[in-house]
Amino acid sequence: MTEHGARREPSAVEMFDLYIDGAFRPAVGGARFASQNPFTGQDWASVADGDSRDIDLAVAAATRALKGEWRAQPGAARARLMTKLADIVERDARDLARAEMHDNGKVRRDAEAQVKMIPVWLRYFAGLADKIEGQALSDVKPGYFAYTRREPIGVVGAILPWNAPLLLMVYKLAPALAAGCTFVAKPSEFTPASTLAFASCVSEAGFPAGVFNVVTSSSRDTGAALAAHRGVARVAFTGSTRTGIAVAKLAADHVARVSLELGGKSPQLVFADCDLEAAVNGVVAGVFAASGQMCHAGSRVYVERSIYDEFLARLKAKVGEIKLGDPEQEATDMGPISTAAQFERVVELIEQARGKGADVFVSEAQVPVGGYFISPTIVTGINASFAIAREEVFGPVVIVTPFDDEETAVWMANNSDYGLAAGIWTSDIRRVHLLAASLQVGNIWVNCYRVASPAVPFGGSKLSGVGRENGADAMLEYLETKSVWIELTGNTSDPFRMG
Ligand code: NAD
Repeated sequence: MTEHGARREPSAVEMFDLYIDGAFRPAVGGARFASQNPFTGQDWASVADGDSRDIDLAVAAATRALKGEWRAQPGAARARLMTKLADIVERDARDLARAEMHDNGKVRRDAEAQVKMIPVWLRYFAGLADKIEGQALSDVKPGYFAYTRREPIGVVGAILPWNAPLLLMVYKLAPALAAGCTFVAKPSEFTPASTLAFASCVSEAGFPAGVFNVVTSSSRDTGAALAAHRGVARVAFTGSTRTGIAVAKLAADHVARVSLELGGKSPQLVFADCDLEAAVNGVVAGVFAASGQMCHAGSRVYVERSIYDEFLARLKAKVGEIKLGDPEQEATDMGPISTAAQFERVVELIEQARGKGADVFVSEAQVPVGGYFISPTIVTGINASFAIAREEVFGPVVIVTPFDDEETAVWMANNSDYGLAAGIWTSDIRRVHLLAASLQVGNIWVNCYRVASPAVPFGGSKLSGVGRENGADAMLEYLETKSVWIELTGNTSDPFRMG
């Protein structure tokens, strides 16, 4: 583990302004703050530092846009804009990935793969934009006809985390645009620049002013101002469970709809009948990709005792091959931890476990000088009373524990406050279906991990969240149903006949 030692040569700092009402502009208060590259430790971007006054302007612009040209456009026209945006993002994928890499230290392979998913999401939901249907309810009550309309819910306030800022925003933006909503994004204070780089793509695509707005800020109060804003009809949040609860309370005060995509402590169950090599690779991908900074990191691994020693030996060997280094280099598998605070938290949890007697295996792979690097770490010899076994680490740390039978494995997997995801590694199809029904999580991967598609719902149960993103139904979350009754008899002379 290293903290910033050797600072690299300073390079020119790039400037980013807020994007409100179709234009880039400084914050009302004129302040700016820096985005630090976690690999170099240097400020790489200077970003406008918005506050509640900028949130007011953005929500006002989004509210105006709801009533204007955007509202008048049919779904097919919204779809055309969305597919144009998809083309622009595809063209600029490398630049967007670079901004993401500099903001949060994500390795090039990961950053580019995630940015390339954005057009897939935009095109999928663009395909739904002209398929918004109400119902004709012809047999509701004698003398009446009723129908439903589905209308855009209004202004969406998106509060975003630092670990996958663009893709997690597009999980919300794509269905929101398809539904005809307008959008105010508040990126994380640690990764403000990539969302403003994305705003240039939106601007070029030709969306009406105010449909998409970005307010960056160094203060967490600005997210609170967005969640509390009475002009926001729906708050779409991704972040930690603690903040999610605070956001839900703020939204409840003005009865805004809320979706919460929160933290996790996801189990992976490895059975003796699995393809061991695939399981080892899946566990590595599930917890060491993105330096473990994934909500669905498969960070608790339970292995059937008969293969436990062999699994652990193979896992250690594989983990030893992980190359840490400069996120920009193609050969790098793992970059630094994104922030100093996160680095300190991960170190603290590892040291606490070591202090309580855990066996801590640390990969001997060379750790670059500078950057918040933590070597891939495997922790064994612990039980559920260890903080590292219960709390989300959000770093490259996996705990591995043996189990004796399927029932115990399910109990261990479900023994968590979280319920985001689980992995099952087995060749027994009967077991797959039984476990899929028993695991208290929102997403299960069988003989794979971390696969995502706009067509497949994603979300958590228990403290991992409320609501689902992705899947065709995700668009319904951005639509409000309106019921319309029509009197058919013309016999309305008796006031007490109605109702
Ligand atoms: P965080 O909760 O610290 O911050 C998330 C966002 O909320 C940031 O934009 C922050 O500025 C804002 N914020 C902070 N306090 C606020 C307040 N009181 N009111 C309104 N907004 C506020 O989370 P993070 O550290 O940025 O992200 C990491 C967390 O996100 C992890 O717990 C991870 O598991 C979770 N996550 C979940 C998913 C998922 O889909 N379930 C995906 C990615 C990350």
